[in-house]
Amino acid sequence: MTSVPATTSASRKSRPQTNLSVLRREQLSPHMVRIVAGGPGFDGYVNNGFVDRYIKIAFPQPGIDYPEPLDLWAIRESMPREEWPHTRTYTVRWVDEPAGELAIDFVIHGDEGLAGPWAASARPGDSLVFTGPGGGYNPDPTADWHLFAGDESALPAISAAIESLPEHARGLAFLEVDSDAEIQAVAAPAGMELRWLLRDGVPAGAGELLVNAVRDTEWPDGRVQVFAHGERGYMKSLRDVFYAQRGLERGQVSLSGYWAKGRVEDDFQAEKKLPVGQI
Ligand SMILES: Cc1cc2nc3c(=O)[nH]c(=O)nc-3n(C[C@H](O)[C@H](O)[C@H](O)COP(=O)(O)OP(=O)(O)OC[C@H]3O[C@@H](n4cnc5c(N)ncnc54)[C@H](O)[C@@H]3O)c2cc1C
Repeated sequence: MTSVPATTSASRKSRPQTNLSVLRREQLSPHMVRIVAGGPGFDGYVNNGFVDRYIKIAFPQPGIDYPEPLDLWAIRESMPREEWPHTRTYTVRWVDEPAGELAIDFVIHGDEGLAGPWAASARPGDSLVFTGPGGGYNPDPTADWHLFAGDESALPAISAAIESLPEHARGLAFLEVDSDAEIQAVAAPAGMELRWLLRDGVPAGAGELLVNAVRDTEWPDGRVQVFAHGERGYMKSLRDVFYAQRGLERGQVSLSGYWAKGRVEDDFQAEKKLPVGQI
């Protein structure tokens, strides 16, 4: 069978490639590692001004010869899709332009996968190549209050969003994590209540804590803006809470699956493009 290079809606211009090096690895909590990266390639990183900015990190496949230096867009144009490096999607937690650094927080979810195990053992000098950033959410200053909901995978985006809120902002954040050892400091305005939901040993993506908490809590009055991301099954249930139970309009809600229990990102992202995979 002949393979033809696949096309994508993104382009070299809309999602430029950045080549960085790992500067340091910080253990934030038992299951969360921060990689701080920088180097000469940082000058090519163009921030997009969204707090949920995300990048696609490239993981070259072993046994395949790629052009040196790695040029992801050239690979897409010249090599069959099955030979492209795998990609994994991550939020840029913060960018320090004067220092020429950015940070990415990785959930360490075991030995499976590419990105989690890579981050767990990344060392200074390791290469970090990605395209992006994409994104599209910022807190709406006209909302009466903000509702955030997510598991560990969305904690970087939710934390960045909360830290961007003005002093007078109000709201509720539902944050599902494994145990109290995973609780992070988030610089939140006084009117933002952070509710940490502890699975206490129940595997991520298998519980009902997050959905039950959002559904059963009495919501403040006023027009809410929602930012909800995390495991796909959680998000399907939350979609029903937001639209069917609470009658919210689409424009009030940013909601998506960040990962799917039992599926690697390649399969999960491919499904997202099919009608059956859309939330
Ligand atoms: C826009 C966007 C932003 C994201 N931002 C972040 C971020 O900042 N930090 C972050 O950690 N993740 C983030 N994610 C989620 C991340 O892309 C996925 O978790 C991804 O699957 C991890 O890749 P992997 O190679 O480690 O595992 P994969 O090879 O994709 O999967 C291997 C196995 O691990 C399981 N798995 C994957 N992720 C998790 C998890 N979080 N917990 C438990 N099991 C898991 C899968 O179900 C599968 O069984 C984001 C996703 C999106 C779409």
